[in-house]
Order: sequence, then structure tokens, then C-alpha cells
Amino acid sequence: MKQKEFLELMNAFTEGKELYRNTVSEVSNDVLPYLEDNSVNDQDYALLKQLMIPNKIIQFRVDWKDDGGNLQTNWGYRVQHSNELGPYKGGLRFDPTVSVDVLQFLALEQTFKNALTGLPLGSGKGGSDFNPKGKSDSEIQRFCESFIAALEPYIGAEVDVPAGDIGVGGKEIGYMVSKYKEITNATTVGALTGKPVESGGSYTRTEATGYGLVYLVENYLQSLGDSLENKKVVISGSGNVATYAAEKAIHMGAQVLTVSQRDGYLTFASGMTQDDLEQIKQCKQKRGSLESLVGQLDCSFSKGKVWQEVDAEVYLPCATQNELDTKDAQAIVQSEALVVAEGANMPSTEEAVNILQDSSVVFLPAKAANAGGVAVSGLEMEQNRLEEQWTFEEVDRRLQEIIKNIFETMKRYGRLEDDSIDYLRGANVGGFVRIFEQMKSN
Ligand code: NDP
Repeated sequence: MKQKEFLELMNAFTEGKELYRNTVSEVSNDVLPYLEDNSVNDQDYALLKQLMIPNKIIQFRVDWKDDGGNLQTNWGYRVQHSNELGPYKGGLRFDPTVSVDVLQFLALEQTFKNALTGLPLGSGKGGSDFNPKGKSDSEIQRFCESFIAALEPYIGAEVDVPAGDIGVGGKEIGYMVSKYKEITNATTVGALTGKPVESGGSYTRTEATGYGLVYLVENYLQSLGDSLENKKVVISGSGNVATYAAEKAIHMGAQVLTVSQRDGYLTFASGMTQDDLEQIKQCKQKRGSLESLVGQLDCSFSKGKVWQEVDAEVYLPCATQNELDTKDAQAIVQSEALVVAEGANMPSTEEAVNILQDSSVVFLPAKAANAGGVAVSGLEMEQNRLEEQWTFEEVDRRLQEIIKNIFETMKRYGRLEDDSIDYLRGANVGGFVRIFEQMKSN
């Protein structure tokens, strides 16, 4: 297979799947020149094609009863992308926007991300178009139980190990773990990560994605002899990733100015405190609106998006895909920004990434910047295998080490001829090299 044939095939395969197509195109832009520079042969393009296309896509019906006793039905999915480096591994998302396109793009991103961690992790992604918003706890529990009952034949500690993502936190994983145990007669559950600590989960898993994001930014700033101390930070989202990114940034002495939700954002003019953050977490855990905190905390609520209206040195999109578009990127480039690091998966549109990459603002892509979550999931799998539970400090230490290694990998594979560093290329090529070497050795 030649490069042209590879591109035509990928074009046909991604037809009608915009997000998946964008990811294939972004990765190919970096990986193809690398292959050309490293004496590519026809077999390599065939392997690259295999790497881009998921091994398996499973779609199933999930029936569950609402509180009125009515039978409801949703779609459930699992995209098992690659098991070259270990069991399929990636989160479950419960959100009305979930589709095969969304999950295929997330699973491909996960492939490179998991490879970057250096851990024995394959890749996958799954979820449902079920909307947990407005549902009672018992409805969510019944849905989780039906979902995992349908998914159970396809997962296992050595096969496929799902975790949480949007709409799926420790509580939902806990419901699924209980049902999984009941169905399989298992006493311990290595088939899911993100478990509550008392059910075999890992300390630091809840914090890992947000903390890891901030560790990566700190690694970058330190490489310039700088740090996060006193830096102004804009964060979008107010879920798991956003709040723990805010927490670690506050620990490091940064001024965290914002958090957001779908219809607007809170601004703390001189930075939020840890106490403010605790109230934000409590509000969102009860699925409340940030707007309800105005008056209780020293902050204001504005409608709309955060990027164009608040100036900062560090921007951390931590909500969802495509939340940062062309106009937003233009505004960021014109602000005092030093770095944009993606906590969410593909929060920046392709055009926005191009604008950032063409500017002096450094862009740290999701596959590296939010790898902390899956890295600690990998550590949770190891603890489950060894029947151990490491302390918070021990897991945090290992997380910091993994993020440092990711940063070094990005620098190594992203260095350009003029000695500057393209961190996006570094992440794409760094992840690719690890998995590709494994594929070639088969
Ligand atoms: P949560 O469900 O905990 O939080 C999501 C947040 O994003 C909420 O504050 C939600 O606001 C906001 N949001 C959702 N859609 C939009 C939108 N269209 N515009 C603005 N805000 C929006 O999810 P997580 O924090 O777990 O995940 C966030 C992102 O990080 C996702 O892309 C996920 O894939 C990625 N990620 C998560 C990991 C993890 O460990 N949790 C690991 C790696 C990546 P509202 O309150 O209005 O719903």
C-alpha cells in the first residue's frame, strides 16, 4: 500500500464521521512525514491503516425502567480500538451527544494517549446517549445496571477495562461494579477502573486528569525557567477535570479566574480560593447551576463562553469537544496567553488548533495533557493485579513521573529544524512510535 492509497482509504472509511475524520487527519499530518523520513515501506502504510481503524465496534440496546415504572430504551456502545499494548482501555460517556462518530474519534485519541503513558494499555471508548441530567439517583442506578449487564460479555481485566468520562463518575462506576460482581460471581473487579477507593479503586484517580494537566503545564513552564506561581488561569467546565485542574493550580500558587458550564461562566476577579472551589464542587455534584453561587461567593456569572472575555496567561479547556473555535483562538492569541493545554478531549476545533500552532502561544494537546486520568487507571489495574493499594502520595508521585516522561517524549519527537518544539507533533509521533514498534514486532 502506498501513501496515496492509504489517504484514499481513510477518506472513504471516515465518510460522514467528521470528528473521527479530523482526528485521522491531524494524526496523519504528523505521522506521515515521520514515516517518510524513516524509510517507510508499503507494509508500513498497511500497518498505519490498521492503527487508525478500530478492531471492533459493539452497539447494544439498553432497556431500563424510570421511576414511573415505564420501560425506557437507549443505545449503548463500546469501540474497542487497539489491544496491541494491553487490554482495551478508555472511559464510558453518558451524554445525549454520544454517537459512533464521537466514540471513534475518542478511541483513536485514546490510542495515542495510552501509548504515551508508557503503560501496558490498549485503547477503547464507550458509553450511551442516556442523559443523566434530570434523572433521579435510582433511575441512574437502574440504567447503569442495565448498561453493564449488556456490556459484561465484552469486558474483563485482561480484555477491556472501561472507566468513567462525562456523566460517569465514581458513583456510576460503583453501581456498575456491584452489578458486574453479581453477574460474574467475582469478588474483586479488575474489569473497571475509577472504582471508589473502598471497592478496589486507586487513590488519586479522581484528581488524576486535572492534576496531570497542571503538572504538564508546570513541566512546560519550568523548561523556560518559569512556573505557575501567580499566573492567571482560565478554566472551562466545572466537572471532574476542571475542578481538579483548578485545585492543583491553586496549590501551585496560580490565580484561577474562571470555571464554566454549558450556558455561562463564573469569574473570580482576583482568583478563587480552595473554599470557593469546594462550594463549586458541591454545587455541581448536586447537578446545580454555577449561577446559584453568585452572592454566596465573591464572583460574577456571565452568559456565553469564557475565551473571548477573560485575559490570562494559561488557558485550560476542560469541558467538551469543539468548545474552543476560530474566534476564541484568535482572542487567545491576542491576549497575554503563554499556553493552551487541553484538559477535555479535542476541545479545540481543527481551525483553532491551526491558529494557536501558527502563533507564539504554546499548544499542549489533549492526548498528552489529559493523559493523567488513564495513567492512574493503569496504576489502578496494576494495584488490582498485585492486590495492593498504594497511598495517595505514592500514586501522585508516579503520576508526576509519568507526566514528566510524556513531556520529555513530546520534546524529543516534536523538535523542529530551527530547534523550536511542536508539542502536537511530539505527542502524535511519540505515541505512534511506541505502538508502531509493537505492531512491527508481531
Ligand atoms: P464532567 O461531566 O465531570 O464535566 C463536564 C463539564 O463540562 C461540566 O461542567 C459541563 O457543564 C461542561 N460542559 C459540557 N458540555 C459543554 C458545552 N457544550 N459547553 C460548555 N460546557 C460544557 O466531565 P469530565 O470533567 O470528566 O470530562 C470533561 C472532558 O475531559 C471530556 O472531554 C472528557 O472526555 C475529558 N476527559 C475526562 C477524563 C476524566 O478522568 N474524567 C479523562 C480524560 C479526558 P454542565 O454542568 O452545564 O453540564
